Amino acid sequence: MTGVGIDWALDWVRRSAAVVAERREDLIDLDRLIGDGDHGENLHRGYSAVLGKLDAAEPATVGDVLKLVATTLMSTVGGAAGPLYGTAFLRGAKVADAAEIDAAGVAAVLAAGLEGVVARGKAEVGDKTMVDAWSPAAAAAQQVADRGGSAPEALRAAADAARAGAESTDPLVARKGRASYLGERAIGHRDPGAESSALLLEAAAAAAGS
Ligand code: ADP
Ligand code: MG
Repeated sequence: MTGVGIDWALDWVRRSAAVVAERREDLIDLDRLIGDGDHGENLHRGYSAVLGKLDAAEPATVGDVLKLVATTLMSTVGGAAGPLYGTAFLRGAKVADAAEIDAAGVAAVLAAGLEGVVARGKAEVGDKTMVDAWSPAAAAAQQVADRGGSAPEALRAAADAARAGAESTDPLVARKGRASYLGERAIGHRDPGAESSALLLEAAAAAAGS
């Protein structure tokens, strides 16, 4: 198997923190248009905290890294996205109890993450939430695993699907979260959580060199 391991997971965290810092203002602007403007700040605070814990961490599995992300995001991000991302990473951590994961493992992590988001937020595809990025991402990774592809290929397919999924939220009316209060005024604006999910999954693919 061509898998991804603990070094990949650590690099994913570092790249995630970097892209969240770089895109902080953009995420704030998106959330200002259809929410309360805190999403970029929330995630930046969360990933800065994760970064601060990384050097002292001694992960034995990919799951250990994901669990550190989960618990830190849960206690630092706040808002709707904190518990949603926290649950996603916690569920993902549970199915990544190995030093290396293959494409099927990547698909399992994303499926578990999606289940976590849905268990918490009860959103469906088309509700204009981060589910619109996570759901196609999990499906795309599973397709790569089914045809015998590698973990980096699964991550690249997931990132591309998440990016398309985030873009698909632009014309939608929101049915969950703060943006749902806006009705048709949410049309034409991207969901901030779907955008941040795409950024994080693009970071995961970049960390795998794909
Ligand atoms: P808040 O809305 O509390 O200010 P954030 O701004 O940090 O929280 O996060 C908003 C994002 O959370 C939304 O863009 C959306 O993607 C996601 N979100 C909100 N509610 C739900 C839900 N019920 N299910 C899935 N995702 C949700
Ligand atoms: Mg907000």
